[in-house]
Amino acid sequence: MTTGENHVSGQIVKKVVVAGGGTAGWMAAAALSKQLGPLLDITLVESDDIGTVGVGESTIPTARTFNALLGIDEATFMRETQSTFKLGISFENWGQIGDRYIHSFGQVGKSTWMGGFHHFWLQARAQGFGGELGDYCFELKAAEADRFFTDENATTNYAYHLDATLYGRFLRKMSEGKGVRRLEGKIARVQQRAEDGFIEALVMESGEIVEGDLFIDCTGFRGLLIEQTLKAGWEDWSHWLPTNSALAVQTTSTEPAVPYTRAIAHKAGWRWKIPLQHRVGNGLVYCSDHMSDDEARALLLREIDGEPLIEPRVIRYGAGRRRKTWSKNCVALGLASGFVEPLESTSIHMIMIGVTRLMQLFPFGGVNDALIERYNRLAEDELEKIRDFIILHYKATERSDSPFWDYCRTMDIPDSLAQRIDLFRENAQVFQAPGELFQVDSWLQVLLGQRVEPRSHHHMGRMMPPDQLRQALDSLKGNIARAVEGMPSHQAFVDRYCAAGST
Ligand SMILES: Cc1cc2nc3c(=O)[nH]c(=O)nc-3n(C[C@H](O)[C@H](O)[C@H](O)COP(=O)(O)OP(=O)(O)OC[C@H]3O[C@@H](n4cnc5c(N)ncnc54)[C@H](O)[C@@H]3O)c2cc1C
Repeated sequence: MTTGENHVSGQIVKKVVVAGGGTAGWMAAAALSKQLGPLLDITLVESDDIGTVGVGESTIPTARTFNALLGIDEATFMRETQSTFKLGISFENWGQIGDRYIHSFGQVGKSTWMGGFHHFWLQARAQGFGGELGDYCFELKAAEADRFFTDENATTNYAYHLDATLYGRFLRKMSEGKGVRRLEGKIARVQQRAEDGFIEALVMESGEIVEGDLFIDCTGFRGLLIEQTLKAGWEDWSHWLPTNSALAVQTTSTEPAVPYTRAIAHKAGWRWKIPLQHRVGNGLVYCSDHMSDDEARALLLREIDGEPLIEPRVIRYGAGRRRKTWSKNCVALGLASGFVEPLESTSIHMIMIGVTRLMQLFPFGGVNDALIERYNRLAEDELEKIRDFIILHYKATERSDSPFWDYCRTMDIPDSLAQRIDLFRENAQVFQAPGELFQVDSWLQVLLGQRVEPRSHHHMGRMMPPDQLRQALDSLKGNIARAVEGMPSHQAFVDRYCAAGST
């Protein structure tokens, strides 16, 4: 195999420069060095003075796919990042104050070619039996019972809670082991080629010049390359996702770690609680039009358990996406590429998809419009669908206890989402669009959890006599309950499998 023949508008593509060393930067460096290392010369630039956003600790199951791609041993990874397991998210106070539902990563019941399992369940419910839909989901029942187990034969669908700083360190060690060069210091200026505006080099405050053929912008919300230099443009979604501020604080643990993230709504947003092995990550997400920073800080400090380990920090953001995530010879990943709030823990997933897609579409034959167009189209499509799923949590509410919830309940929403809600409300029909992250069971759990009640459902359940339907449902429920019963507590399993400090 020959290397170094790839062209960027007449220039060889060999040198990849990753600007930024947060989760996005190190994920990109780790994946590229592991998968394409011998073909590339990778440098990562980061500034200790600027630091990272320091949050982003709840993942979804695709994190396991990414670890597999990198050849990471799970128990080692969990020990070094103080991770715990995650089976889903507990949504509290969303439909109404006092409500709770778990959006789990599991499959609900058994579907048929004709339609989803929930149609059988709705049929049973109409006849007064069947219990809760969640009774038919193993991961959900395990989460409720605070139990967990996995081994090489287990089919449980799960993700991780991890320490963002330790995750960065873990990936850095891997990347440097694969030959990535790290340069510490501030980027003072981005140098562009006069004839076409392609990026040529990063000029450091020290005066050092870091030249590259392809640049990956992982500089966080500032988007130093993609926006400040290349003016890729921003599509604003804040009218649909109005929260714009977060306060994050870490606390000591006061109880065994549960295998789920908590997302507890309050009068102007929501609060997260993410249990790790050595501490708990907490944060308050809010809309600054409806809550001041002081009020948010007081609310957060009132609600947390455990001793704060740091001073709460305010983080400002806006919901939206770059109009082009790949522009000229620059690809933006992570917060530099766009952001929808962390309610469904999707940002790290988007980094993973972004870097995987970049490797699949790597411009070996030179950067060209067809590649850029394809990359940007896929990125746009996926983020829009995630956006709709998150808006659903705000729109489908009965809360009317504050101006914030009045706004959300009555706001206009994208047509794509309005059609989905109508389809479910009228017919109990849900679907996963091509290329969409969230599956049917996710839409279902959230729609029902947010009190969207279907007016009718498919009648396939009527083809079963009620006794038979009851028996089939009881058997499914019973199997799940027994399987959950047989598992250790989540904390006991973490202690045995991957306790930090053990080998
Ligand atoms: C409140 C909140 C909660 C979140 N929770 C979750 C979650 O639970 N799950 C999830 O998946 N995601 C979550 N996210 C998103 C997640 O935090 C990010 O996707 C992830 O941390 C990646 O960030 P980043 O690497 O893009 O940016 P950053 O962490 O901001 O890193 C930027 C890097 O660029 C460097 N840099 C910037 N400017 C310069 C310069 N001039 N010179 C040199 N270096 C520079 C910095 O030093 C740093 O290394 C959350 C985000 C927020 C805001």
